[in-house]
Amino acid sequence: MAEYDADAACEVRIADGYFPVETLGPGRRLALWFQGCALACPGCMSRHTWDPAGGRTATVGELLRLWEAALDRGARGLTVSGGEPLAQPAALAALLRGADRLRRRGDGPHAGLADSADLLVYTGHEPDEVPDRVWSALSGADAVVTGRFRVAEPTDLVWRGSANQRLVPRTRLGTARYGPHLTRTYSPGPRVTLRTDGTATRLYGVPARGELRRLELGLAATGVRLRGPSWRG
Ligand code: SF4
Repeated sequence: MAEYDADAACEVRIADGYFPVETLGPGRRLALWFQGCALACPGCMSRHTWDPAGGRTATVGELLRLWEAALDRGARGLTVSGGEPLAQPAALAALLRGADRLRRRGDGPHAGLADSADLLVYTGHEPDEVPDRVWSALSGADAVVTGRFRVAEPTDLVWRGSANQRLVPRTRLGTARYGPHLTRTYSPGPRVTLRTDGTATRLYGVPARGELRRLELGLAATGVRLRGPSWRG
């Protein structure tokens, strides 16, 4: 219980959180975007998440309440992206521990693997780039997507932005859930969804090469101009 309280009180800087997102992993998911990334990949679509002082401060407990609400609404999983989640390893580890506890609540003796919500984390790092104590923050993840976004290496593999990025299952659930998708490619059509809340338009997913430009042109054709899109420097 003390560990749970310490985890819940842990502060984390986040850029956004939304449920349901269906373009960052299998099924309807809660997506949480950590704030802060020093990797500065050319072509990054989320430059607004780079500044470690941007976004807002939350507690892991607050994020876990979002997760609990998403589970109540049938969430199939949690996706943590950014920004760079490993830039806040203590908060990431606490979040994954708490998310695991909550997804097990009410599990009866017959609760099966197929029923569990899974935990997926995106990181721009490779395992040998960060100290083990940082990488170990991913130990609660069922699957990870690793590696920088490289704009010159487009891919059609689902949920990856460039061909170098690897989708790696890490648990039995991760293998069951992500194994069928390791070499699966996108169907033709949009890879992102848009959400507009009156003040901002948010874009969720992993766009294909040229998709953001086509999106801008399509919106412009309807009289909508994007001001300061997050993929421009
Ligand atoms: S693509 Fe990801 S890892 Fe690269 S700069 Fe953007 S947020 Fe950071």
